[in-house]
Amino acid sequence: MKDPNCLFCKIIDGQIPSAKVYEDGSVFAFRDINPQAPVHVLVVPKEHISCALELNGDNSAVAAKCFEAVAKIARSEGLESGFRVINNCGEDGGQSVMHLHFHLIGGRKLSEKII
Ligand code: AMP
Ligand code: ZN
Repeated sequence: MKDPNCLFCKIIDGQIPSAKVYEDGSVFAFRDINPQAPVHVLVVPKEHISCALELNGDNSAVAAKCFEAVAKIARSEGLESGFRVINNCGEDGGQSVMHLHFHLIGGRKLSEKII
């Protein structure tokens, strides 16, 4: 299910180029255009789900698929020593693209823990 006005739907469709690092039947992952660490990959469900608030019993399997992809990408990017996964949700959470995504960040010792 695609939203024709959604940036990440267009990236998944190939209408907008991206540096793809992983793809399977339900997940697409590509490098963030403004990386915050040596490795900064966006892991995105192919289904258009606007944010974590919209996850429910009917669609939450894609979130599990995203985390399976996180584990694969973390290994392929050499992040066995550790990494961080971040989801921003909604205005207060600082979400700027309204298509659910998980930031996979690593490649250096991360600081500024929020929690
Ligand atoms: P968020 O602020 O959590 O919604 O994250 C959106 C992320 O998308 C930001 O880290 C942006 O740098 C990234 N971004 C925006 N446009 C693109 C693009 N065309 N290709 C790759 N990453 C992008
Ligand atoms: Zn979308």
